[in-house]
Amino acid sequence: MDKLESVEEGLKVKREVLEVSSDLISSMGQFLRKRGFIEILPVVISPITDPLNHSVFDAGIEYYNGKYSLTKSMIFHKQLAMRIHPKIFSFSPNIRLETKDKRDSGRHLIEFTQLDLEMRDATRDDVMSLVEEMLTDAFEKLEEKFGKFLREMNPHFSIPKIPFERVKYLEALQKYGSNFESVLSENATQPFWLIDIHIDDREFYDKLDDNGKTLRDMDLIYPYGFQEASSGGEREYEYEKILRRMEYKGNDLESMKWYLEEVKKGIPPSAGCGIGIERLTRFVCNLDDIKSARLFAKKPGELAI
Ligand code: ASP
Ligand code: MG
Repeated sequence: MDKLESVEEGLKVKREVLEVSSDLISSMGQFLRKRGFIEILPVVISPITDPLNHSVFDAGIEYYNGKYSLTKSMIFHKQLAMRIHPKIFSFSPNIRLETKDKRDSGRHLIEFTQLDLEMRDATRDDVMSLVEEMLTDAFEKLEEKFGKFLREMNPHFSIPKIPFERVKYLEALQKYGSNFESVLSENATQPFWLIDIHIDDREFYDKLDDNGKTLRDMDLIYPYGFQEASSGGEREYEYEKILRRMEYKGNDLESMKWYLEEVKKGIPPSAGCGIGIERLTRFVCNLDDIKSARLFAKKPGELAI
């Protein structure tokens, strides 16, 4: 650990930024409720959590003879919740103990909150349309309430035009090389979707396309260099396919046995995504560093209150 951040650092957030963030949370929640979604309480510890597609430090808690993991994403709980209700969302605190090389990315926190949503029997297109409308609605409300502040902070603030452009992962890779996401984001003036992400670049749970190479998934990318906003997709829900994907990824089957047992009993097909609240706030307010997007922010490699 390099340094212990001062308490004042954790409080260095503009009051109006907090108001904007609070308004986004409220508008998106209201929008989803109007569309028949219910808000479920977040899961903070569980024996199973998202394995992610990159490694982070372990965040576990020993408890009697078992072990809890702090939630990296609620993906599996969202899939299981589909048995009970067809449309759910949660403001889910995620802990991802990233390595300190990510400290200066401007967009990584080791504790963040994502608006996680999932829809039974939905397609990727359903989720993309929903998110486009939800963001447009939230931005319109922001404009009404905080127009003056946002224009001062962000010369580019505008209501995004829908539908957002869709860019295919492999085409972007071929055209711009491995750094394509940042190149495309730097040059864009509107949010856009990156779709059909390569199987090697994502976790096992997003659905594999018939081509066996790319996924039925999408990332939302912010313009002006702000990069990734959201990840999501249609999900694998069939036992054999999930097992094959976990083996392909080299996931630890033993630690995932509870999930696999439930999948065997049957989980509904679904699609969904997770949208980082701090990144959304940072984008809207045009903040240099994500640290200024929430109170008590914790960056990779730092100890903060
Ligand atoms: N995989 C996303 C995440 O990174 C969430 C989702 O797909 O719904 O948290
Ligand atoms: Mg992602």
